[in-house]
Amino acid sequence: MLPAMNAVFPASEAPLVDPFGRSIAYVRVSVTDRCDFRCVYCMSEDMNFLPKRDILSLEELDRLCSAFVRLGARKLRITGGEPLVRRNVMALFHGLKRHLESGALDEVTLTTNGSLLARHAQELAGCGVRRINVSLDTLDPDKFRAVTRWGDHAGVMRGIDAAEAAGLKIKINAVALEGFNDGEARALVDWAHGRGFDLTFIEVMPLGAMEHDRADQFLPLTKLKAQLEESLTLTPSAYATGGPARYFDVAETGGRLGFITPLSHNFCESCNRVRVTCTGTLYMCLGQEDAADLREPLRRSESDAPLIAAIRAAIARKPKGHDFVIARASKPAVERHMSATGG
Ligand code: SAM
Ligand code: SF4
Repeated sequence: MLPAMNAVFPASEAPLVDPFGRSIAYVRVSVTDRCDFRCVYCMSEDMNFLPKRDILSLEELDRLCSAFVRLGARKLRITGGEPLVRRNVMALFHGLKRHLESGALDEVTLTTNGSLLARHAQELAGCGVRRINVSLDTLDPDKFRAVTRWGDHAGVMRGIDAAEAAGLKIKINAVALEGFNDGEARALVDWAHGRGFDLTFIEVMPLGAMEHDRADQFLPLTKLKAQLEESLTLTPSAYATGGPARYFDVAETGGRLGFITPLSHNFCESCNRVRVTCTGTLYMCLGQEDAADLREPLRRSESDAPLIAAIRAAIARKPKGHDFVIARASKPAVERHMSATGG
């Protein structure tokens, strides 16, 4: 620790740095494990959701987020499950606004399936949210219904329109699925870029047991990229987030295209993020089982001291990287679902 830093931060509030020198600046917080969709790669049809007593209250979520902000987090992403199905979730955004106003936090962002965006977009903007990610795997309403099991494409489109009208910057995330949306990749690029949205393709990850054999869904993004390059000119972009996406500028559309390939180890070195579930479990790496319970220290005391000590102890064990492997008929590398960890 630099002496100058000691002068600025009391010992308990020195910024979080893991054993590999990575500063933890980005925290993804899942506020619910529930969702109004059942995307085939994410959830099984008959999910068992957690009992309410296990879930952190909105006040506890605020305390947790605020503790990370005290410890130097600059960006919070609110996710789920579907964050906007959480009852009164806007109260959390209203509360977190104070950290944006004080300058302690650079950004509060949201990852959503868009189904309830039309209702909340304006209020989110009012809470200081500037950017959101909307997940959309297909432009075809029938295929959308199939992949989400019952989602309404038109409702999501209305949500996207409302977000745009509220001035939110939108990034579209599409999970690349073999035989499902590979034929639509170019159309997705044209649509997203035509509307001024960034688009990122995500490689399907082996998270959680599922009815489908995941190897059947797996579409390597190298293949998708090669296919797109038959008609588009992709140039590596200077844009980087410290996350798993690699970005390219698309000459023909003037837009930006990202590829998230979590199965390669290409981003672990710069990983500045951790995830907290809606039960207060802190995962230091998306691809590893090791986790720390933050709910117990949170509930044990009104003081944040035990919570901060637990966060520090966990970050001291953040692993260097992950061990994802997709092999046909293999068990998922990590048993928990993405909707539980917070995507
Ligand atoms: N419900 C919100 C949504 O869909 O955007 C937020 C939570 S969702 C778990 C976050 C992201 O994870 C979505 O973009 C979703 O497509 C992605 N996702 C879910 N399961 C996945 C998996 N097995 N592999 C890759 N991405 C996955
Ligand atoms: Fe719900 Fe998002 Fe998972 Fe789809 S990806 S089931 S919208 S949590």
